[in-house]
Amino acid sequence: MSSDADSDRDPSVQCDACDAICCRLTVVLDVDDRVPAHLTTHTHEGLRVMARDEEGWCVAVGPDMGCTIYASRPEVCRRFVMGAPYCRDIRQVHHDQLRRGIPLTMY
Ligand code: SF4
Ligand code: SF4
Repeated sequence: MSSDADSDRDPSVQCDACDAICCRLTVVLDVDDRVPAHLTTHTHEGLRVMARDEEGWCVAVGPDMGCTIYASRPEVCRRFVMGAPYCRDIRQVHHDQLRRGIPLTMY
């Protein structure tokens, strides 16, 4: 039986063929997340988040655009569903910005 989340998914969207666009989102850490401290920072509002590089990607993204801390990745990353509406929306915005040559948005 498929869930609602499954029925909302586009199976043609695959992480293997994506530039880790969801890893440009602000990743707010949960108290239970066990992420190495040097990969984290705090926002002006005091939230503990994944640190990002100067181009906006999470610093845990590896050279192959995979997650280098996959086994201990934050809870919010675990809940992000490949090919689901939010994934497709941010991919569309990202690719539209690239196509139009405008600076990528920091989410
Ligand atoms: S979940 Fe979506 S946005 Fe994130 S890497 Fe996979 S396909 Fe790309
Ligand atoms: S922790 Fe891993 S999955 Fe989460 S945003 Fe960073 S690279 Fe992506």
